[in-house]
Amino acid sequence: MASLGIPQNTIAVLQKYNFNFQKKFGQNFLIDTHVLDKIIDAAGITKNDFVLEIGPGIGTMTQYLCEHAREVVAVEIDKNLIPILEDTLSDYDNVSVINEDVLKLNLDELVREKNDGQPIKVVANLPYYITTPIIMGLFESHVPLQNITVMVQKEVADRMQVGPGTKDYGALSLAVQYYARPEIVANVPPNCFMPRPKVGSAVIRLTCHQVPPVEAEDEKLMFKVIRASFNQRRKTLVNGLNNSPDIPITKEEIVRILEAMQLPLTIRGEALTLQQFAELSNRMKHI
Ligand code: SAM
Repeated sequence: MASLGIPQNTIAVLQKYNFNFQKKFGQNFLIDTHVLDKIIDAAGITKNDFVLEIGPGIGTMTQYLCEHAREVVAVEIDKNLIPILEDTLSDYDNVSVINEDVLKLNLDELVREKNDGQPIKVVANLPYYITTPIIMGLFESHVPLQNITVMVQKEVADRMQVGPGTKDYGALSLAVQYYARPEIVANVPPNCFMPRPKVGSAVIRLTCHQVPPVEAEDEKLMFKVIRASFNQRRKTLVNGLNNSPDIPITKEEIVRILEAMQLPLTIRGEALTLQQFAELSNRMKHI
């Protein structure tokens, strides 16, 4: 089958099925074969791999995945795309399409059934309206993952990758970096998609840690501390934590912890590393 990454082929499929793009599903289909090659390359897909694709659209990237992987499962929410996928993927016997909202999918069961519970690869040109819930959902499901290689809004990719002291650093950076090592592998302009999105995009590879890089005795508490610290960006860490109903200790106790960690009381959340957030939450736990 001729690549759908060539714009004329995508247009022909869309016309054949009289397909109407649905904005509410974040539908921007890739029409650039170089970008598709880059994604497959960055994900390091081999014939041993089971790959989960989120939002296959008309199957452009799915075809590439089928060529390179052992098995592919593609989860697509839009029922109008299902007959199209049956057509565009008819040459492949190593793919199944599930018509479902990925946020409702039982991933654990899928990985057990399809990959003996071994770490899987996830590849997607994500719908931008739910990028964060999808990525955090994957991490928090604790399903075994090797890497997640995804197209996201450029600004979101930057937020995932940056460290302390920059304006983009926040709860998303820390959450992603707790679970994975992020690397932006390509910047992708709007003209690589149909229709063109209003924002720039980037492909980011998240190589998942098999052991977390810091020791948080209570992950949930650490993430509460992180969220509380960034909720009121202009406030000091002490005030941010003290104003949060999720933080179970008094202002005096917060001050004592910061002193013990030799941090100035004027410090803001955006200056702390992941290691320091883990230590802060561990000390809170033992108060
Ligand atoms: N992979 C295709 C490509 O690269 O051309 C399409 C990418 S498009 C940016 C996002 C796709 O995700 C669309 O096909 C959309 O219908 C689908 N989608 C949106 N929300 C979804 C959800 N909650 N679960 C599964 N698929 C979803």
